[in-house]
Amino acid sequence: MNKLLIVGTVAFDAIETPFGKTNKILGGAATYIGLSASQFDIKSAIVSVVGEDFPEEYLDLLRNKNINLEGTEIVKGGKTFFWSGKYHNDLNSRDTLDTQLNVLADFQPVVPQDFKSPDIVMLGNLHPLVQLSVLEQLERPKLVVLDTMNFWMDNTWDDLMKVIAKVDALTINDEEARQLTDEYSLVKAARKIAEMGPKYVVIKKGEHGALLFHNEQIFFAPALPLEEVFDPTGAGDTFAGGFTGYLAHTGDISFRNMKNAVIYGSNLASFCVEKFGTERMQELTKEEVHQRLEEFKSLTQFQIKLT
Ligand code: AMP
Repeated sequence: MNKLLIVGTVAFDAIETPFGKTNKILGGAATYIGLSASQFDIKSAIVSVVGEDFPEEYLDLLRNKNINLEGTEIVKGGKTFFWSGKYHNDLNSRDTLDTQLNVLADFQPVVPQDFKSPDIVMLGNLHPLVQLSVLEQLERPKLVVLDTMNFWMDNTWDDLMKVIAKVDALTINDEEARQLTDEYSLVKAARKIAEMGPKYVVIKKGEHGALLFHNEQIFFAPALPLEEVFDPTGAGDTFAGGFTGYLAHTGDISFRNMKNAVIYGSNLASFCVEKFGTERMQELTKEEVHQRLEEFKSLTQFQIKLT
């Protein structure tokens, strides 16, 4: 079985949407990536850190999805990373209300022996120096994918530039791509990002789908039009988990196969937003995933006679 190494936050989130509000629930970039990638027959592991306040049942939930947590450190007496966000009425934009790094502030990641030469690496949202330190512990993987967000651009720009230069692919949302490059056009933004290092650039546009760029080629996957979106938290990470999980599963990192990976990512993200937090991803079955992929196919396939 191919191996996927996941790095990112395992967190407490407090979320507010027009439909309701939660206290501290399970969240974190690596959590969403792991749950999403667990839909594929691969070996996956999360490198992260939590505090002593993190419930054992949350860790068990991830272990029960066959995710290796040897590299997820539990800091005695420490407090888990906390993020809180509030969505606007359109659910496409949100404000971060609070980010408390807590145990993340001094985290020194250690990659488990069994994952030192993974096939695919998904560097989810986290301090860029932690992402770099993980890369330094690895034998050259087939593909390294990086995700980041405005928080790290605002606070750790120089370190972020160092890690971006070392990865093969970047997944980022549209607003963040514009912030990273100072370009409004996403085509120009993707070109500028490619000049920073990544040969592949995926720009996520929420309910408007995702764009994959490689050299002069562009591929677009829509998001499935949903009747109800409840909570978009983690959609980007779920996309990244589907994208890298599929690439790890197939072992094929050609541009042609990456297009399929974008579809798998979009498909899985469409489930994530249907309930609060990780709830929908916890209960998701392979049958549901397959059925929705069929819907995706009929949504995007058409035959046209060119006159
Ligand atoms: P997404 O909605 O895909 O952007 O991801 C939301 C998840 O990212 C939440 O579960 C948060 O715990 C996590 N998160 C929020 N801010 C940060 C940050 N600065 N670094 C790492 N993870 C974060």
